[in-house]
Amino acid sequence: MGEKEWGYLQQAFASNWIAPLGPCVDKFEDEIADYLQVEAVAALNSGTAALHLALKLLGVSTGDFVICQSFTFVASANPILYLGGIPVFVDSEPASWNMDPACLQDAIEWCLQQGKKPKAIIPVHLYGMPADMNSINAIADKYEIPVVEDAAEALGSTYKGTACGSLGKLGVLSFNGNKIITTSGGGALTGNDDDLIRFARHLASQARDPAPHYEHSTMGYNYRLSNLCAAIGLGQMEVIDERVIQRRHNYYYYKDKLSDLPGIKFLPEPEGCFSNRWLSTILVDETKTGGISNQKIMEVLAKESIEARPLWKPMHTQPLYKNAKAFTNGVSEKLFAQGLCLPSGSNLKLAELDEVIGLIRSLFITSEIPGKASYGGKLIDISAPRPSKESMNVK
Ligand SMILES: *Cc1c(COP(=O)(O)O)cnc(C)c1O
Repeated sequence: MGEKEWGYLQQAFASNWIAPLGPCVDKFEDEIADYLQVEAVAALNSGTAALHLALKLLGVSTGDFVICQSFTFVASANPILYLGGIPVFVDSEPASWNMDPACLQDAIEWCLQQGKKPKAIIPVHLYGMPADMNSINAIADKYEIPVVEDAAEALGSTYKGTACGSLGKLGVLSFNGNKIITTSGGGALTGNDDDLIRFARHLASQARDPAPHYEHSTMGYNYRLSNLCAAIGLGQMEVIDERVIQRRHNYYYYKDKLSDLPGIKFLPEPEGCFSNRWLSTILVDETKTGGISNQKIMEVLAKESIEARPLWKPMHTQPLYKNAKAFTNGVSEKLFAQGLCLPSGSNLKLAELDEVIGLIRSLFITSEIPGKASYGGKLIDISAPRPSKESMNVK
């Protein structure tokens, strides 16, 4: 939390708007719209709800194809199943780790051969890194298929100067507890079609028709964001830029202190892309590290009660989606095999980052010379500081 959330919550309590509507919800929507430079935003109780409504608004129903990035969190794909749709998964390209335009093209052509145009395309900006949206949008435009941009991990990221979350027909944000800013749980649907977003709000509040009594002509959902959560969100919007800086600092600090190690690779931003670096990630190539794997690094950190995690397991390799059609190129499977998310919290202290770095570097010590390690006959300096627990001021 920042410094303002508590104040906004107190205001919400004082006004007695303890409901899934209220002035904080309206203001939160305006602030997000302003931040992303979009026409309209519907504040919802999760990113998953936003994806569900997005697909519903685009008319996805039983038997419809929806194309989804395979390398993602399961919430990107599940709403396709909620609506009885058929997910078609598309692999990633190495430059952004996100949807590969070539595989996307193949997937669309395959759907057309089955006699049905896909109802939507869901690219994801994984870990905050923007997908190749110009190429994806060009293909989507050619076939006239709407794009639902899953920007759940990418608030604060931009693509060629334009905010992630504003690049498709509809955009999805998440304010879950683990995201760059949070309302404890929440999400938003964004777009430039005012009527569509207004209809999303209608569906999200049980689709009540205008009448003195409760009149319903369509099936709705209970998906609106609570005014209390929106109050937290107002405080969080004041610190979003600071959070992006903190996350990016983590990334550059790790990169500076680890990228000389053989077999450890970071993902640079492709031309024109700005990542919020929600999570700092590395690839660990065992054939170049001298047998040190991502698993091994995870174990060494876990021994010190430091959590690191593998990257998202591609959807086309999940038991849930084992029968789904997928257009693959090997990239996401390789990323899953080699990848690791390092500790990436916005409040990490330098000493904590140094501890992670020190533990990883300690794995690479193979030389008899203190502070040096040897690779292919070359000696490199590995003497990163290894702070003691006392000096760390851990909360
Ligand atoms: C978190 C996340 C979601 C879902 O958001 P919730 O608010 O947790 O429902 C969807 N897609 C991606 C890529 C996510 O990381």
